[in-house]
Amino acid sequence: MEDCIFCKIIKGEIPSYKIYEDDHVYSFLDISNDGNGHILVIPKKHYVNIMDCEEIYLSKIMASIKKIGNHLITNCGFSGINVMNCSGVDAGQSVFHLHFHIWPRNKDDGLKIFPELKKCDASLDVLCEKLKLSEKVKNVTLYTDGACSGNPGMGGYGSILIYNGVEKVISGGEENTTNNRMELMAVISGLEAIKMGCKVEVYSDSAYVVNAFLQGWLEKWVNNGWRTSKGDVQNQDLWQRLLELLQKHNVEWHKVKGHADNEYNNRCDALARGEIEKIKKLINVD
Ligand code: 5GP
Ligand code: ZN
Repeated sequence: MEDCIFCKIIKGEIPSYKIYEDDHVYSFLDISNDGNGHILVIPKKHYVNIMDCEEIYLSKIMASIKKIGNHLITNCGFSGINVMNCSGVDAGQSVFHLHFHIWPRNKDDGLKIFPELKKCDASLDVLCEKLKLSEKVKNVTLYTDGACSGNPGMGGYGSILIYNGVEKVISGGEENTTNNRMELMAVISGLEAIKMGCKVEVYSDSAYVVNAFLQGWLEKWVNNGWRTSKGDVQNQDLWQRLLELLQKHNVEWHKVKGHADNEYNNRCDALARGEIEKIKKLINVD
């Protein structure tokens, strides 16, 4: 982001008092110089706030905060830390590059980090009903499959969404694609069809898709700037699209055996193949 002051600080275009740096995070002294040393921790990639930031990256930032906190306590004579974040203008955010404030603390240091808040008018009962998340989250099941005639070649994908016993069927195809791209598109198009953030159980027979999550491949790709020892990660456009969707939905991945006894997987396979047939007819290929 060109006009972002924190991006400029990371690039060294604006000077800063560096406290810590690693591949993902830059940490420096806040210009306000309050408390006993006011530290900021920012991701090296520009995210606006917590809600905008990928979970994988957020966990990197938190790990760095832990590292800095341990250092302050072990090596700098402090006995605790406060960590604060403002996400959104109305929450007091003034710089729109995600950042966490750290204040080192000591017993009886006299700092009042937290403002004195007025008492809330509502009771805890009423508040809990209004704010709780767990029972509001809807559970959706998503079956997906992709297919390709030739690899690369004409491809199709099919997805079946099930919510409260009601099904929604989605399918699509492309003239020139790969099997892996179709497997990814099956999941993406299914998740994109869900409007509200939901808990989604995804069932796919693609080891490529499921293991990227279950074996931590995707996390490694993100950490290594989308490069592997063999070169650039393929289908990065679709993985990025999927990562966006995972910020909205809480997804659990399940690997199913393909072309076996899973009725929904077989139906998705038929949908995907149907799409290939449609393309063949359209361009008159046998
Ligand atoms: P926010 O209010 O968004 O939570 O926090 C932004 C913080 O960035 C403030 O505490 C502010 O003092 C700090 N800040 C703003 N501009 C600069 C700058 O150019 N250098 C440094 N080191 N800190 C800055
Ligand atoms: Zn920035």
